[in-house]
Amino acid sequence: MKRKVLILCSVLFMAYGAVFLYSLGKQKSNDPLLIHDVSRLVPVHVNKIVKTQGEDGIKKALQEANKKNLPVSIAGSRHSQGGHIFYPNALLLDMKSYSKILSLDKEKKIIRVQSGGIKKSKH
Ligand SMILES: Cc1cc2nc3c(=O)[nH]c(=O)nc-3n(C[C@H](O)[C@H](O)[C@H](O)COP(=O)(O)OP(=O)(O)OC[C@H]3O[C@@H](n4cnc5c(N)ncnc54)[C@H](O)[C@@H]3O)c2cc1C
Repeated sequence: MKRKVLILCSVLFMAYGAVFLYSLGKQKSNDPLLIHDVSRLVPVHVNKIVKTQGEDGIKKALQEANKKNLPVSIAGSRHSQGGHIFYPNALLLDMKSYSKILSLDKEKKIIRVQSGGIKKSKH
């Protein structure tokens, strides 16, 4: 039984490695619209990437997607794993620049941040 589990794990590990190497090769195409998450398992070709610039920029991007009938994907640091967060031919909202710290109450330990905020975000 143990042996079978070991063999199965090895096969899964090799399959993951093969897909990972395949996606690495695809990434080398230098196509900025071919994107992936941290797992690199499922590269997806999107229609356009919009780096969010405030609420107005997000609104404009959504209006554009609506007008062109494009699906919308939202990405932060793309640390999800499995490729499930991107739609092919989507307008991708890159939220990383929507990252201001809006307020910080040190006493109550309450922080308000824009939704692309990460640990390194600035006030
Ligand atoms: C090595 C590794 C270690 C990890 N360790 C931990 C851990 O210890 N604890 C833990 O909780 N998680 C952990 N994770 C998971 C990871 O932290 C989460 O997947 C991460 O929080 C997702 O953030 P992201 O910005 O990368 O989102 P993405 O992967 O870019 O997106 C994830 C989902 O959130 C949506 N989304 C992203 N940004 C926004 C936004 N601004 N507004 C609206 N929707 C948005 C996307 O549409 C998508 O559905 C780990 C992941 C990795 C790869």
